[in-house]
Amino acid sequence: MAKIKLSDYAKVARPQNIDEIMLLAERLQGKTIKMVNSTNTGGGVAEMLHRIIPLYNDLGLKVKWDVIKGNNAFFNTTKAFHNALHGKKEEITQAMLDAYVETNEDNSKELTFEEDYIVIHDPQPAALINLKDKTKGKWIWRCHIDTSHPDPRVWDFLNKYVSRYDASIFSAPSFAKELPIPQYLIYPSIDPFADKNRELSQSEINDVLRKYQIPTDKPIITQVSRFDYLKDPLGIFETYKLVRKHVNCRFVYAGGTASDDPEGTQVLHELQERAANEPDFHILLLPNFADVAVNALQRASTIVMQKSLREGFGLTVTEALWKAKPVVASAVGGIPLQVIPNFTGVLVHSAEGAAYQIRYLLNNPAVMKKLGEYGREHVREKFLMTRTLRNYLLLFLSLQHPGEGLIKL
Ligand code: UDP
Repeated sequence: MAKIKLSDYAKVARPQNIDEIMLLAERLQGKTIKMVNSTNTGGGVAEMLHRIIPLYNDLGLKVKWDVIKGNNAFFNTTKAFHNALHGKKEEITQAMLDAYVETNEDNSKELTFEEDYIVIHDPQPAALINLKDKTKGKWIWRCHIDTSHPDPRVWDFLNKYVSRYDASIFSAPSFAKELPIPQYLIYPSIDPFADKNRELSQSEINDVLRKYQIPTDKPIITQVSRFDYLKDPLGIFETYKLVRKHVNCRFVYAGGTASDDPEGTQVLHELQERAANEPDFHILLLPNFADVAVNALQRASTIVMQKSLREGFGLTVTEALWKAKPVVASAVGGIPLQVIPNFTGVLVHSAEGAAYQIRYLLNNPAVMKKLGEYGREHVREKFLMTRTLRNYLLLFLSLQHPGEGLIKL
């Protein structure tokens, strides 16, 4: 496939967006950027970085992406942080805090920070800020987590680091915190040309369904998510049982595990045990980089679910909306920014609610079609990658002009 260029996005995104990007990039020529996170596969952050970095390069801005290294003790700690920041009760010991600090120190010795803008993603590498005084760049902490109700102990611990950055970025207004540094709101986004979102032919979709042995004899209701309790796979199974009392359909829970998530296998086994005698509840363990498979499963679905208990933004919702699918999703994290009730999808608060809405939709194809159409336009307007790129460029530029009320472009 030919390399996708920024100009190609004018065909699907709003063309004004592309003009703005070019203008902003001109003002940033020669600048360098570093992105740091903790995994290059699995999860939404890695997904977005893979897609957006080539566009920066296309604009003449050099971006380097580094992934921090850590052992099990570190990733167990950061997973507990992740859960606790999402409001889940977690035991955090002093040894865990020590593992966090030590791993960040070890990584500090390996990494260099000579760039003009350093974007640190999520809590895992946040303590790299200790190097700030030795660098010339502006440091930005990009939080992808729903921090609206964090465990105060973990937030206070992280806050010591976060408050030393030059700026922070959150994904939704409700995630913003009391901080002494500027906070910016930037929505995550999807790439319409990525294998995960591009148009697929019917034969490509059929190949995937055949490979994963999903017959097309009944409506398919799908959730694509990592095997993580916060994605509520057991709640999906409960929903399936409730729906199946009235409607004959299949459910698919498809996901992989991320290298920075040690809980995945346990969650997978628990779900497999629950669904052992249910041939119409399909559990698919996807390999990394199964993008066409994810795309095909979403496109083959009659309804896409995202029944998360907590959610950062929920890129899977964005992906499904872009494919004009009716979405039934929990009203958590960034999902309500995407799913406007009964306009771009349906919001639910329980397995019972989800089951009720799925039954209603399956009986009302015209409603499903309308939700899908509006959902796609909502994504075009707000959640395509070009919009994120534009907002980052604006942020970089504004950091070049601290304290100036008006920046002339
Ligand atoms: N994803 C994937 N394979 C999987 C599970 C998820 O490619 O097995 C993708 C999914 O399509 C989406 C991203 O990983 O692009 C997950 O992002 P989201 O914001 O929904 O959740 P996160 O995993 O970051 O909590």
